[in-house]
Amino acid sequence: MNVYMFTEGNEVNAMSGNYRTVKVMDIDFFNTSMNAFLKHIVYPDLANGNRSFIVTANPEFVIETRDHPEFKKVVQSADYVLADGVGIVNAAVLMGHPLPERVSGIDVMYRMLDHASKNGYSVFFLGASEDSNKKAVENAGKEWPGLKVAGRHDGYFDPADESIVDMVVDSKPDIVLVALGMQRQEKWIADNIGRFDKGVFMGVGGSFDVLSGKAQRAPKIWIRLQLEWLYRLIQEPRRIKRVMRVFEFMLLHTPVLKHLMRMFGYSTTKPRGKS
Ligand code: UDP
Repeated sequence: MNVYMFTEGNEVNAMSGNYRTVKVMDIDFFNTSMNAFLKHIVYPDLANGNRSFIVTANPEFVIETRDHPEFKKVVQSADYVLADGVGIVNAAVLMGHPLPERVSGIDVMYRMLDHASKNGYSVFFLGASEDSNKKAVENAGKEWPGLKVAGRHDGYFDPADESIVDMVVDSKPDIVLVALGMQRQEKWIADNIGRFDKGVFMGVGGSFDVLSGKAQRAPKIWIRLQLEWLYRLIQEPRRIKRVMRVFEFMLLHTPVLKHLMRMFGYSTTKPRGKS
């Protein structure tokens, strides 16, 4: 894999420092801005017919990797892990290795769809409920006219059912967006990417639900105030357990408090209670 130094034009600050990745809780985050990532990685990968696996991870996701070693291995097998959360960016700053900005998965997905429609790349949409998947594909076609849809399928299938992956492989997609929820989608990609000759693969969580209009994205002001997690919690109160993991992540990266957390058996690398 190449090491990209993003130092041209107005992208001088696209990569901070001379390191390619920044480690947060055993996960190597790719040290890039959104624009640099698209321009220097995704677009060339598409043009060259490369195969790549992109993970977008937020604090909750990282805690999940700590508590599930198998999942951690899956994430560590990805080509690029992006910092999809201000919590990750803030933690990197506190560790003295700042990342340039948050690179949100849904925005990467939108930019890829835009690029695909302009350059004739085909996209497979895998995941979400049948209604949401269908509507997301319809809306994508309206938003980006001419978008080539390699195929689509809802996300409620048995992972052991080979016919689904056969269908995706046969459609020869340039981009595969997988919306099966955290863990399931990354595992699906890691298990199946070897069957494809080319393709940019990315887990996109609840993004099809936003594209279909089934779910609302937080208004910009909430995002700017770093409160997107609270907005999602208000929309879906059942996420409370997941939000607790965001607090755990924050405490584990707060000076002074992190030592207290360790005394209570919380670790940044080992499953809870095993430090
Ligand atoms: N989903 C799916 N198959 C499943 C479980 C979930 O396709 O077996 C979809 C679900 O319909 C939703 C997305 O995966 O569209 C997960 O959304 P969530 O907000 O939970 O994403 P996460 O935060 O886990 O990435």
